[in-house]
Amino acid sequence: AAEETRPADVTAVSAPLITSTLVKVNVSLPEAAQRAAATGADGVGLLRIEHLILGMNKTPQWFITNQKEEEFISELYDGIKIILDAFPGKPVWVRTLDAPTDEFRNMEGGEDEPVEHNPMLGWRGIRRDLSTPGQFRLQIEAFKRLWKAGYENLGLMFPLVSHPREFIQAKSLLRDWGVDVDAVTLGIMVEVPSSAIMIDEFIKAGIKFASFGTNDLVQYTLAVDRNNEHVASMYEPTHPAVLKLIDYAIGRCRAAGVECSICGQAGSDPKMVSWLVEHGILSVSANIDAIAKIREAAARTEQRMILNMAYSKGSNEGERLF
Ligand code: PEP
Ligand code: MG
Repeated sequence: AAEETRPADVTAVSAPLITSTLVKVNVSLPEAAQRAAATGADGVGLLRIEHLILGMNKTPQWFITNQKEEEFISELYDGIKIILDAFPGKPVWVRTLDAPTDEFRNMEGGEDEPVEHNPMLGWRGIRRDLSTPGQFRLQIEAFKRLWKAGYENLGLMFPLVSHPREFIQAKSLLRDWGVDVDAVTLGIMVEVPSSAIMIDEFIKAGIKFASFGTNDLVQYTLAVDRNNEHVASMYEPTHPAVLKLIDYAIGRCRAAGVECSICGQAGSDPKMVSWLVEHGILSVSANIDAIAKIREAAARTEQRMILNMAYSKGSNEGERLF
């Protein structure tokens, strides 16, 4: 009983975990769809399709060369559908293919992949899709069928975008292929510093959302290979330069009414999420196992912000609340 009558502690809020920040989940495998949905997440903030595609064990080009396009399209369709079905009415942002060339090497058709000195700075993400529209189109065909089947909650997210013209080109290809680009949700990953710096131009180009891919944003901002153990200690998601880019992009997105989110690993870190919520992020997407603690971090931060606002003497917000 003493517990129950203790005055509420501002820093330890035990209210129901309803947040105005949307807490979404990252999913890669259809097998994880049910577990992901059971978290009660507000949608899928990143559906990586690499696992579905690499799991086919043949490169997208192989399907084209061997006239097996239908096989590719229907496998992709089936895999994504399982995840969409687990999140009825909730937004699911599917990321278009983003695998570096070296990951295709051991598959059938992999011998045709270019050998790159530095695949992470090379032919991947939207770059690959724009320069091989045939491969891009295979994916878009699967998405078109999903939209046609009524999955209006399906949104597309383009990876490794570094210039607004890439978004414009992608949109124009989609239009050529019969997608009503104004009716569907198209957005970008902000994972190259240039896309954070040019966020206003992306907004003008019509993105509906932007999601921080901090795994890459950190490596490209700091010139620290995310997979190199010798520089691992320099890989700092909270480096002031990274935070400055994120803060800037959040501010611009908010001002324009564009949903900004995060889907990199930093979105599964409660401290980082607290910082992001304080800085105005509208949604976060975390790993399945991190959802509970992320929701809690967001709820506590929101509560703290409201109380700070309410008690800050002289502020209009405070006067309005009390
Ligand atoms: C990221 O870069 O933060 C991201 C989510 O994409 P990936 O880890 O697949 O590169
Ligand atoms: Mg990335």
